[in-house]
Amino acid sequence: MEKNKRVLITGAAGFLGSHLCDRFIKEGFHVIGMDNLITGNLRNIEHLFPLENFEFYHHDVSKFIHVAGELDYILHFASPASPIDYLKIPIQTLKVGSLGIHNCLGLAKAKNARVLIASTSEVYGDPAVHPQTEEYWGNVNPVGPRGVYDEAKRFQEAITMAYHTFHGLETRIVRIFNTYGPRMRLNDGRVLPAFIGQALRGEDLTIFGDGSQTRSFCYVDDLVEGIYRLLLSDYASPVNIGNPDEITIGDFAEEIIKLTGTDQKVIYQDLPTDDPKQRRPDISKAISILDWTPKIDRAEGLKRTYAYFKTLTKEELNKVEHNNFDKYIIR
Ligand code: UDP
Repeated sequence: MEKNKRVLITGAAGFLGSHLCDRFIKEGFHVIGMDNLITGNLRNIEHLFPLENFEFYHHDVSKFIHVAGELDYILHFASPASPIDYLKIPIQTLKVGSLGIHNCLGLAKAKNARVLIASTSEVYGDPAVHPQTEEYWGNVNPVGPRGVYDEAKRFQEAITMAYHTFHGLETRIVRIFNTYGPRMRLNDGRVLPAFIGQALRGEDLTIFGDGSQTRSFCYVDDLVEGIYRLLLSDYASPVNIGNPDEITIGDFAEEIIKLTGTDQKVIYQDLPTDDPKQRRPDISKAISILDWTPKIDRAEGLKRTYAYFKTLTKEELNKVEHNNFDKYIIR
């Protein structure tokens, strides 16, 4: 039904963007990928380059975006997305979530396209409500190290809603909870690549804080299915997509040690500033509006993800900078 529709995906060379490109190609769309390659990697999409229904623009969406021809959909997934990235490139993080989305919305208005934006559970900050429902407004520190990401994403939701109500633009907002899978960057500082990388290099696993903080990890294919359904739905308010299966980071480290069959130990380091103590999505809306639930449990998802990390060369594994959050900790 959606065959030959044209979709622009920003952040196409990133972890989520590249999986979205794959899905939309599979559904018969003409996919236009865009990325400035600051955190994205062309290797994630190089298999798409020979295809006729895929094009790639090396472009920074914080600058004016020109796309020739018609567009039916725009998915805005360009953004650094890990605490280490926010620390290294805070201004770019703010720009892509403000100037970048403004350009996407302007383009959508000009092309009469529907826009879906990648928002995040970070809009809830260190949440005082648990699990997090879409009605919760969050507990965010605007001037902390995560503020550049959290506030950009909150602004992104606000401007998207404004284009919806003021210009009548068709918009969708997905609030993405922790997601994992193949193509995650080994050195982005996120807990899963950090732990798997450490296990494969024979290093101890670094737990920040006492490991009692929780997260709920969603396998990337489940997330992509939720996003696909949301895009084609007629629901303009934010929808949480994530897997409500919550685990402490301490238990997660044990799972990774078991998975990798290594006998690594865990070591404890300071908890980064404003690190949320708990996180679990309330997915009632996704269930009732999109008829969506996650299908891949952590055991299966981790197996698939580990298989990917095992394909990395020794050189790639060793290239990673050590997980140094020192500057990120405000004492
Ligand atoms: N974390 C950890 N060791 C690491 C990297 C992360 O204990 O080497 C913790 C981090 O402090 C946080 C959780 O794992 O509590 C998830 O971190 P991640 O950066 O993956 O995502 P986010 O904090 O944005 O949910």
